[in-house]
Amino acid sequence: MNEHGLSQRLAQVGAEVPEGARLADIGSDHAYLPVALMLAGKIDYAVAGEVVKGPFASACKQVAKNGLAEKVVVRLADGLDAVVAEDAIDTVTIAGMGGTLITSILEKGRQGQRLRGDERLILQPNVGERNVRRWLQDNHYQIVAEHILEENDKIYEIIVGMPQPPQQPLSYSEKELFFGPFLGVEKNPIFIKKWQREQKNRLRVLDQLQQAENPPREKIAAMRQQLAWIEEVLP
Ligand code: SAM
Repeated sequence: MNEHGLSQRLAQVGAEVPEGARLADIGSDHAYLPVALMLAGKIDYAVAGEVVKGPFASACKQVAKNGLAEKVVVRLADGLDAVVAEDAIDTVTIAGMGGTLITSILEKGRQGQRLRGDERLILQPNVGERNVRRWLQDNHYQIVAEHILEENDKIYEIIVGMPQPPQQPLSYSEKELFFGPFLGVEKNPIFIKKWQREQKNRLRVLDQLQQAENPPREKIAAMRQQLAWIEEVLP
């Protein structure tokens, strides 16, 4: 992969970035996404935030190599601390991390007022998608789009949130948080493949839990509930 040819996963994240956006890409190893979007003329300005020095240096190199230092600003910072008010960011991408890390970055950003609450959020958790949806719901974001794709034998979900006026509270069901309000309705072949895999994994875990010396009742009940939901969505 390079700045011209994004992976299918990052290309799908980029496809959700609006034309003319002022983007903050948090966890921007190599700055591939902001550089590709800038080279394509899709965005006006970007901050590429990285907390680890090695990937930060790679991102700086990538930006310099493409002569974009004035338009793609690389900052070494934890999460949304990379962003300042003058950046006037309107779109945030956070991709390629666990859902718990993504929500902790968003929560810290909200508490530290780096996130205003009116940005478009494009999130690609590698695991823990349910946590991400729950955070969006709890913070008055409506899920406006979801994508699922397979690349190199891995299945990825992309979740897009847009701010919702607090006077219109959102309430997704537990099942919608689990499968995704769009993905669970669309049920495309990759979604089916993902949940067939998850069913196998959960059956194995359930078996292990049941064989424990002191079987954890609550965990077993939760696992059974999830397996019942999975059975319902599978053909
Ligand atoms: N976003 C790119 C992608 O999707 O291909 C890179 C994903 S890479 C697996 C995750 C990156 O996030 C790493 O470079 C890591 O250093 C960075 N990261 C992890 N926690 C972070 C944080 N709190 N703030 C900024 N960057 C973070």
